[in-house]
Amino acid sequence: MINLYGLELTKLEELMISYGQKRYRATQLFTWLYEKKARSFDEMSDVSKSFREVLNKDFCLELPKLYRRQDSKDGTIKILLELNDGSKVETALMPYRYGNAICVSSQVGCNMACAFCASGLLKKKRNLEVSEIVGQVLVMNSILEEKNEKVTHIVVMGTGEPFDNYDNVLDFIRIMNHPKGMAIGARHITVSTCGLIPGIMRYAHEGLQINLAISLHAPNDEIRNKIMPISKGYPLPKLMEAVKYYEKEANRRVTFEYIMLKGVNDSLECAKELVKLIKGTLAYVNLIPYNPVDENSFLRSDDKTVHAFFSYLLQHGVNTTIRKEFGNDIDAACGQLRAKDQHEKGN
Ligand code: SAH
Repeated sequence: MINLYGLELTKLEELMISYGQKRYRATQLFTWLYEKKARSFDEMSDVSKSFREVLNKDFCLELPKLYRRQDSKDGTIKILLELNDGSKVETALMPYRYGNAICVSSQVGCNMACAFCASGLLKKKRNLEVSEIVGQVLVMNSILEEKNEKVTHIVVMGTGEPFDNYDNVLDFIRIMNHPKGMAIGARHITVSTCGLIPGIMRYAHEGLQINLAISLHAPNDEIRNKIMPISKGYPLPKLMEAVKYYEKEANRRVTFEYIMLKGVNDSLECAKELVKLIKGTLAYVNLIPYNPVDENSFLRSDDKTVHAFFSYLLQHGVNTTIRKEFGNDIDAACGQLRAKDQHEKGN
């Protein structure tokens, strides 16, 4: 059985042609799936009965199951989804003034082993299929439908490293972005990487106007090596070269994410080094208040320290923002809900 939610339009076209169908059949199906929100082939009234039989025989429309849900007072919704093989992934919805941003996971677990992150507590079990990433958005949309709302922005910032599952993440984005698909504008979609340079180089040539965020979190390799092991393979000078290459080829600016960790990377000396490091790029910096995780000893920086760091960057010509926080009363940090669920179940 092929899950139709896993096919972006050009792949669906090829498949339909291999079934002796006309190319437009794919667009028709796409419209049924994403615009008309059909949940069965029998609803597809303009598809002949005989081809619907073929569809029912060889294809399915399968979504992950809603396993657990947490709602925060501020409107954040966090869900844990169960996949076919019993794996669980988490997805969050953050209500911004400008729209509803969903944070999707790209892998079951993560191998990047960032010291501060709850996702890495569970090693990567496997990549998510395209349909399982698409499914996160569709399940969230069915929750939002109750309030006549829908997902308007997507960040691939949940569990997993998107560039370690490059092809599936890109197909997912094509389905989200396509006018006949979910029709979410490229500028409303952001992929976040811990700095896999080959992925950044490839992304530069996709010809999509999608946003790229890079988890930097340190102004030099000495600190970065301690908290982000990926830095050993892809050191900062090379990462900065890749960013400049991307800016030139894709004609887009990147955002550097920088978690403020008390006593680790939050000094003014670090701010000074950061200004030097990113000089020559057009990047923005997004300072992230750390969301403490029970399993490690990192602490969030004081507000005063964050503001001093913020002001230093601004004064030195770096476009900087401080990330708005969501869901502090629920397990909002990446991977926390899944880790908690496993912990409670004792496995
Ligand atoms: N692997 C990708 C995407 C997933 S992590 C990446 O590294 O970018 C998404 C973002 O959340 C990253 O910037 C990550 O460093 C950050 N993050 C992880 N744990 C966090 C926590 N406890 N508090 C705040 N941000 C966290």
